[in-house]
Amino acid sequence: MKQVYLDNAATSFPKAPGVGQAMADYLERVGCNISRGGYQPAYDAAQTVLEVRESLSRLLGAPGGRNVIFTPGATYSLNFLLKGLLRPGDRVVTSPMEHNAVLRPLTQLERQGVEIDYLPCTETGELCLEQVADHLTPDTRTLVLTHASNVSGTVFPLAEVGALCRARGIFFLVDAAQTAGVLPIDMAAMGIDGLALPGHKGLLGPQGIGVLALTNSLAQALEPLVSGGTGSLSESLEMPPFLPDRLEAGTLNLPGIFGLGAALRYLESEGPALRERERRLAGHLWARMMELEEDGLRVLGSRDPARRTGVVSIDFLHADNGEMAFRLEQEYGLQTRCGLHCAPLAHRTLGSFPQGAVRFSVGPFTTFAELDYAQGAVYELLMERNP
Ligand code: PMP
Repeated sequence: MKQVYLDNAATSFPKAPGVGQAMADYLERVGCNISRGGYQPAYDAAQTVLEVRESLSRLLGAPGGRNVIFTPGATYSLNFLLKGLLRPGDRVVTSPMEHNAVLRPLTQLERQGVEIDYLPCTETGELCLEQVADHLTPDTRTLVLTHASNVSGTVFPLAEVGALCRARGIFFLVDAAQTAGVLPIDMAAMGIDGLALPGHKGLLGPQGIGVLALTNSLAQALEPLVSGGTGSLSESLEMPPFLPDRLEAGTLNLPGIFGLGAALRYLESEGPALRERERRLAGHLWARMMELEEDGLRVLGSRDPARRTGVVSIDFLHADNGEMAFRLEQEYGLQTRCGLHCAPLAHRTLGSFPQGAVRFSVGPFTTFAELDYAQGAVYELLMERNP
């Protein structure tokens, strides 16, 4: 039986061509550390790392390469932002569509006296934009929002929310785990102060490397989550005052950065065509699943295909979603993700708690034929109960 990978929202697969080779080349031919060795290969490797930072800065509209901090992933970047910024007595605004990578750090902070306020969302997971301003009270320190939900695929209007935050001097933090490399992001134009993303999803890079991109004012306000060696100003027991060193302690994941660099080079040449293809695949998957709504299925999320990513979650109305996902895999080779997707409040908002949903998510290398095959399989399962 053929296997069809439709879990790109969890991690993209396959990766961009050249990623594995770049990682192997680093390990087999370079090997040395950067900022800690006075020899040519270390300087060359440091130059490559700087180029990857600059490439990310261009892609994300960040203020510059030095404002790009490497982390182990989006979860780490979000913890860094929230725990580095918020103090007891601060107020933070967020949405119920967030991933636990936001909600769990916030819950920890709430125990320390941080107040959390949730923005209202509709039952299709869309932000009630006209109500956002009412929540941005004078004592609000920051607003943290996902760019797109990993459950419903619904895209949030970042530029509009960013403008509201900027006008009030509120730091705007964005979780771009589902969109970096897939949808255009421009920190400057969207008023984003802190952007968290993983290398292993839409950027088509390896696991274990993530990014935190920051404006200078947020970088100044952030307390380092982790401190330690940077290879610079070692005589001081304080972290260096300049970026990226101020916020980046310890040896970096150099194989990961070299792999991510290869992915970014691929995206720089192929990105526009890949994005367009993924947009068409996303629309196709959504339209095919929507055809089945009258047969006992509910498709979660926005009804406007222009405001969706390539994530389509479905709720079998007359069957157990877990059993259906299991059968899709066992009988059709369809690899999906069932459950609550680390986003319990999103499922509550969408009316799919506690049963969860079966999530299909495309990547740029998915084919239209695979999506038609997936729809046919879902249809067959529905017809068993509803002939
Ligand atoms: N935010 C969202 C919206 C996500 O989908 C994910 C990954 N599922 C994360 C954050 C966390 O990313 P990572 O596991 O790569 O740290």
